[in-house]
Parts: sequence; C-alpha cells; structure tokens
Amino acid sequence: MGSKIAADAAIVGGGIIGCAIALRLAQAGLKVAVLDRGGIGEEASRFAAGMIAPHGETTEADDFSELCAASRDLYPDFAAEIEDLSESSVDYRRDGTLVLAVSEQQDRELNATYEWQTRQGVPLERLSGDQARWQIAGLGAGVISGLFVPGDHWVDTEKLIAGVIEAGRRRGVAFYPHTPVARIEVEQGLATRAVAENGGEVTEISAPVFIVAAGAWSQNLARDSASVPVVPCRGQLIECGSHCPLPFVVRAGHHYLVPRSDGRVVLGCTAEYVGYRKEVTMNGLSSIIAGVAQFAPSVSDFLFRRAWSAFRPDTPDHRPILGNGDVENVIFATGHFRNGILLAPITAQLISDLVLKGTTKRPLGPYRPQRFAMVS
Ligand SMILES: Cc1cc2nc3c(=O)[nH]c(=O)nc-3n(C[C@H](O)[C@H](O)[C@H](O)COP(=O)(O)OP(=O)(O)OC[C@H]3O[C@@H](n4cnc5c(N)ncnc54)[C@H](O)[C@@H]3O)c2cc1C
Repeated sequence: MGSKIAADAAIVGGGIIGCAIALRLAQAGLKVAVLDRGGIGEEASRFAAGMIAPHGETTEADDFSELCAASRDLYPDFAAEIEDLSESSVDYRRDGTLVLAVSEQQDRELNATYEWQTRQGVPLERLSGDQARWQIAGLGAGVISGLFVPGDHWVDTEKLIAGVIEAGRRRGVAFYPHTPVARIEVEQGLATRAVAENGGEVTEISAPVFIVAAGAWSQNLARDSASVPVVPCRGQLIECGSHCPLPFVVRAGHHYLVPRSDGRVVLGCTAEYVGYRKEVTMNGLSSIIAGVAQFAPSVSDFLFRRAWSAFRPDTPDHRPILGNGDVENVIFATGHFRNGILLAPITAQLISDLVLKGTTKRPLGPYRPQRFAMVS
C-alpha cells in the first residue's frame, strides 16, 4: 500500500536550505511539501557552529565573496522575520569576530585579508598580539596578531532551524519526516514525481517543480550524478560551559570558539573525508582542543557538556550548486559546504525567484551544476 501527495513544489531535504526555500515559496502562496528521510532539521543545519562570516571566511574578492556578503546583509531582517513568525528567539548576534594569527603564515594571511577587504570598504581593525589580548581575557602568549571583523555575526543554529521550521509550518508548509526519497522520476524530459520508500511503505509525491536540498546526500538524487558531485565532509564540534562568557566569536584558522547563551561555548572543528561515518573520535576531539589551546590555553578549564559530528555538503570547488541540471524542473540547492547557515537567506531568495519568476536578481552562472559536467 502507498500514499500519494500532490504539491505545487516538492522539496527533498528539510535542512536550513530546504526549509528556508519552503518558507519563501509558501509565503508566495504555493502548496509546499518538504520531505526528509529523517527528522526535519536533524542533520548539519542543526549542528553547525553558526558563524555568519563573509569576511573572516573569504580570502579573495570574487562572486562568491559577494554572495556571502549579500546573504549576511539579509540576515538582520531574516532573523527578525523568523523570530516574528515563529515567536521564538534565534539568538542572532552582531558583535563581530576576532580572527587571530598563531603562526607567521596566518599573520601573512590576516595582512592580505586586511588589505584587500579594506580596499573594498569593509571596516576592519588590525591588532597586535597585545591589543588582541586586551580585547579578550585568556588569550595566550602564542597569539601574534589579530583582525577584528565587526561585520561577521553568529546565530544559535539549533534555535534558527527550529524557528525556520516553525515559521514554515505556520505559513502552511507540509513537512513529511521519515520519508526517504529514493528517486525522482522523469517522463519526456520533465520530472513528474518523487518516490519515497520507507520499510515497504511507498509515498509518491507529484509536483510541477522539485527542489533537491538534500545536503551531503544530494548526489544520490541527481540523474547525472557527475553534475552534482557533493561529498560529505565530517565536522566534529564540542560544546562546553565556560566560567567567563565569551563576548564574540574568536578563531584562528579552522579552530574557533563560538558563544552561545547561558555561558555555553562551541569549540570547533575538524574537516574529514571519511564517507558517512557519523562518529565522534578521540583524535577529532583532541585536535580541536589542541587547536583552540594555541590561542586560548584556558580551554583546559572549560566544562565538557557534549560533542557531535555532522556532514558539510562539499563540492570540488567548495561552492554551492544552485539551479537546474539536465531536467528543467529539478532544481538543486546544495553543496553549501562551510557556509550553509550564512547562505540560507540568499539561497532561499534566489531559488524561490527561480521557481516563481524563472529568473534571479544575481546570475546563477558560477553555481550551476553544468560547470561540473563541462569539467568532466
Ligand atoms: C561542524 C560544522 C560546523 C559548521 N559551521 C558552520 C558555520 O559556522 N556557518 C555556516 O554558515 N555553515 C556552517 N556549517 C555548514 C552548514 O551546516 C551546512 O552548509 C548547512 O547546514 C547545509 O544545509 P542543508 O540544508 O543543505 O543540509 P542538511 O542540514 O544536512 O539537510 C539536508 C537534509 O536532507 C535530508 N535528506 C538527504 N537525503 C534525502 C533523501 N533521499 N530523501 C529525503 N531527505 C533527504 C537529510 O536527512 C537532511 O535533513 C557547518 C557544518 C558543520 C558540519
């Protein structure tokens, strides 16, 4: 026996990307179905660190750095809208990020970042090691220099994804957890239905447009898998309690401390290509602690609360995949790698515009799946 669902838009994947797009389409009056193989919002989007960091993260001026900055600019309104619609806080904070150098190489990188970004008009403050130590208690003698980035923000991702889901629900989005889509069927060049199978139970979802926002699993849903080469990049994180509340994000390279409310702090992270092994390893945890101790030796006094891992959806050029592939009415919104939280508002805007108007404010060229087909 099976069941049938009909929608105006069917979204495969209920992470931040799928749920943010669902909200925008529902606000435009569409009947939207979000299908997830597990619980809604239970993968990377819930377990990310939550940095909204277009400046600290990007190393050169290109279309991608503009995309990141444009999405950050949408965040104040996006966060306020989600809080308003869901009637819950997402703990969005705009207190900036302190990026540190603990090696000569990182010091040179901070100089380069400072130079090109100030030329672009980004307000930044270059600090000596001592000036960085005055900014924040507990920084170690190994800190060579710092860069304070007022335009990099952060958010509590567990609260954000819960808020986006609730906002969608109140706007009429229909969520189908535990509905793993096995395939999207195509007839005469157009997708007609998604077929989900769960323990012998088959669900067929028909819609005029399908959006694949299945994070690290998106490649499984592409007809031409070479054009959606998304792989999982495992990241482990640790949550601790700290005696001294952290005023803003502090990081050096890929090691960071991200504040949460109630004196909690998230320590990250690892980047591992180990397939879909969702494990937390002693190697991973010790590398995070050692990395953070390079700039914050007091990490050894933090109180351990919990640790977890999740999969970033990575692509060969570390850029997202946005737009349709060889089937016109199957749109991909995936591959956001380290930046899916940051890029959620602009992805939702671009993909909903593509569905509703057939065009987007920013050209999707650099992000189209076809770029990989051309390479291969
Ligand atoms: C440790 C770590 C730290 C991070 N920190 C940051 C950060 O500070 N800032 C930032 O911007 N980003 C960060 N990220 C990246 C960010 O988490 C991701 O880019 C983002 O969450 C991707 O969102 P998504 O909706 O595409 O994927 P996901 O949240 O993984 O959602 C995809 C969903 O698709 C579902 N799905 C998969 N296959 C199917 C199927 N066949 N049928 C139905 N459903 C399916 C899954 O169950 C899942 O719920 C971090 C990631 C990690 C792992």
